[in-house]
Amino acid sequence: MTIDTARLREDFPILSREVNGRALVYLDNAATTQKPRAVIDALTHYYETQNANIHRGIHTLAVEATEAYEGVRAKAARHIGARNAEDIVFTRNTTESINLVARAWGDAKLREGDEIVLTLMEHHSNIVPWQLLAARTGAQLRYADIDAAGQLDLDELRSLIGERTKLVSVTHMSNVLGTINPIAEIAEMAREAGALLLVDGAQSAPHLPVDVEALGCDVFAFSAHKMLGPTGVGVLWARAGLLAEMEPFLGGGEMISIVKPEGSTWAEGPHKFEAGTPNIADVIAFGAALDYLDALGMADVREHEKRITAYAIEALEGSGGITVHGPHDVEVRGGAVSFEVDGVHPHDISTIVDAYGVAIRAGHHCAQLLMRHLSVPATNRASFYLYNEEREVDALIEALDEAKRVFGRVESRTAV
Ligand code: PLP
Repeated sequence: MTIDTARLREDFPILSREVNGRALVYLDNAATTQKPRAVIDALTHYYETQNANIHRGIHTLAVEATEAYEGVRAKAARHIGARNAEDIVFTRNTTESINLVARAWGDAKLREGDEIVLTLMEHHSNIVPWQLLAARTGAQLRYADIDAAGQLDLDELRSLIGERTKLVSVTHMSNVLGTINPIAEIAEMAREAGALLLVDGAQSAPHLPVDVEALGCDVFAFSAHKMLGPTGVGVLWARAGLLAEMEPFLGGGEMISIVKPEGSTWAEGPHKFEAGTPNIADVIAFGAALDYLDALGMADVREHEKRITAYAIEALEGSGGITVHGPHDVEVRGGAVSFEVDGVHPHDISTIVDAYGVAIRAGHHCAQLLMRHLSVPATNRASFYLYNEEREVDALIEALDEAKRVFGRVESRTAV
């Protein structure tokens, strides 16, 4: 069913504000998304009616808060097609989920000479934890290249994965190019080599129907704040049995079974990785975000984004002096659209369009390896979500026309 954006936008209080005297046009959804009233209300409701620490208490508030928190574990599992809620760990964000695996799995499993295969389109949070792990263990990093269309070079990736490969870690969807990677195919390559496959789902879980079992990956990581939820909540899913094989990440309360002077034993399942008091309120509010997405249906979210992304790519390329990076076919890409305006630095573009109330991002997008590959210091990025409308793309194009006019003038004045 088509998403009724006019109605749905009423659920997002922030979308009715003005910026610099203009209606806000929020196109920075790959960085973080806006929150519907249901999520904001869930936070308030928790603090007003249920606030208590979880797991430890037997009083009514503690039981209610525990049930609400654990209920979201089940919802998060359902959102990505995972069979068991017990395979879901709550973290702070995607970054922490990946670091958890690097520490809890990587430190124990990797040795000198082992190899970790990444790609040039990874976010820093799927590069730096592996660089740190490589420095600790003596393992080597290998990076698969990207072709001219902004897609992974699968032949090269296949050639990099071999008997030394212990881990393959790739993004499901690029936060810069929008490219959607063929995870099921990559999972087969990893499986044949006996390597673990981690998928960075920070940009896919919010925008695509995801089924981790069908994808065939071993680990899947994502962040609540990029999918209508609050900041401070990340999710790590691991294939059944994998969490049990991993060492603890952080030590403290909640993650133990028995503590003795000479040492301790660990709690079972995800609790082993949730030391200390977790982010209870935000996890519970994330549940409201998952309900919201579920009610819309991820297939419809995806269809909406395909339409607006196709519209945006055509409008940007058609407006003159603009190049869009990454694949143009919306069947193989999502709604993070990076572009360059001839001769104008992305930061200048971003500043000017902000004066028109349009929020886009300029910079390296935490993907410096990709910037180097594209031979650019930075790009502009407009990124869409379920509440964006074509008229907002029009507002972006109008603001960009103004930026081009301003810089055209500046250049000619300098020339004189
Ligand atoms: N991976 C990708 C592809 C991302 O786009 C991002 C955030 O922009 C991250 C990882 C890191 O997410 P977080 O900052 O929530 O840990």
